[in-house]
Amino acid sequence: MSSKNLNDLFMRFALHDETDTRKCRECKKFVAQGALYPVCSECNKTSCLTSSYQMDPSCCVSVTREQIDHDTLVHVKRLRWNNTYNRGYCAKSCTKHNMTSMHTYWEGRLSSSPERFPYFVPSNWYRLSLHVDFASIPYWGSNWHTLYHGTHPQNIHKIVENGFLIRQCQHGFPAMYLSPSIRYSSHPRYARVVVQNNMFFQFVLEVRVDIRKLQPVKKRETLSVGTVGDIDPHFPNNEDLEFLLKAEKGKFLKPHQGVVVTGVMVRKINFDPALLQSSWWWCKWRTLEQLHRFYYNGMAQTESTN
Ligand SMILES: [Zn+2]
Ligand SMILES: [Zn+2]
Ligand SMILES: [Zn+2]
Repeated sequence: MSSKNLNDLFMRFALHDETDTRKCRECKKFVAQGALYPVCSECNKTSCLTSSYQMDPSCCVSVTREQIDHDTLVHVKRLRWNNTYNRGYCAKSCTKHNMTSMHTYWEGRLSSSPERFPYFVPSNWYRLSLHVDFASIPYWGSNWHTLYHGTHPQNIHKIVENGFLIRQCQHGFPAMYLSPSIRYSSHPRYARVVVQNNMFFQFVLEVRVDIRKLQPVKKRETLSVGTVGDIDPHFPNNEDLEFLLKAEKGKFLKPHQGVVVTGVMVRKINFDPALLQSSWWWCKWRTLEQLHRFYYNGMAQTESTN
């Protein structure tokens, strides 16, 4: 997106708020106000900023199909939806746990999910469920569990129609990445941020995977976070955040090969999600400026290239 517009938004939501007590994420000192991408006066880094008031919300913002039916978002009419399972997922701090489907919450790993592929409540995300013809999937059964795959919303209808296109080799063989952590999957490298009507949207596919086909990724330097902290507190030491499903390069991974898309997880918030406390690790991989320039979309009218 154009840096001018993006900066306006960014400034509006974060920088010009008098109550904002922003601190550098590296050295925890205060940062000078007003710059386009503030550089910390102490450690000279243009890192993400932590902001004491951008608490992760208690609940999520509901999303309708109409709201995401846009050229820059999802090709809604190309998909078969199933509203029955739409729901919002809350955080522990919500006071209306399970009073309605908008306040879905459970504590810890859902007992029906395996320890290795735990299903935790995807707090602050809203699920738009897709129609899935499970009867047509051979081997469908108790070995299939919930994982996530962050993606650009414009790809969703293609993935559902054709399967996951395998472009790259990962660790020496063609494969796709999946994660049991929606927080990990929400990094804009995967789940691109799209700004639409001053709201920030991110999309992560909820998939069911035949876990017998998954291989763990052993490396710990996941998105350059290394060992400085836990990306997702449910996954201590950043272990078991990434799994690979083997495939053939240039081909599409389809449900009979072990992965089927069951829902579109949407996070809609009125400020830059990079400022969420739970996004503290986003800028270990790129600076905020680079994330904004290359991994955020929106206000396409004013956008030249990126
Ligand atoms: Zn600093
Ligand atoms: Zn709630
Ligand atoms: Zn992908």
